[in-house]
Amino acid sequence: MEQFTGGGTSALTEYKATPAEQELADFTATILADTEDVWNELIQNYREPTLVLFSGRVSSACGFASSATGPFFCPADENVYIDLSFFRDMERKPGASEDFAQAYVVAHEVGHHIQKLMGITEKVQSQRGRISQTEYNQLSVRLEL
Ligand SMILES: [Zn+2]
Repeated sequence: MEQFTGGGTSALTEYKATPAEQELADFTATILADTEDVWNELIQNYREPTLVLFSGRVSSACGFASSATGPFFCPADENVYIDLSFFRDMERKPGASEDFAQAYVVAHEVGHHIQKLMGITEKVQSQRGRISQTEYNQLSVRLEL
């Protein structure tokens, strides 16, 4: 679930979840609200991210994204993009508790938002071209952990 930083203009249209997806959409919104309860406690004047649900493809301030991208956070518009078709695919995978996995995905993207608010994203991105690609990749991996 890369943090998507491509360039582009945002032309968001509200995605209407299908009845089958409505439960996923509600669950996602609930998890996001839970993270906000926590971060509003921990960060003064916490700026909450905006949830954008999509299925298939979406345009963001970080460029176009498709299901191949999966869920992502765009630092340029501070939106958390959740691909409902990605969640639906997760449901079909045997094993891992879907609820936990989906909650983890949302919390992970909110984590990128926190990194942006704390200036960590910018610090890492400012290293691009100043350090070797290997070192830069290592920093990018650390942003994911
Ligand atoms: Zn990530």
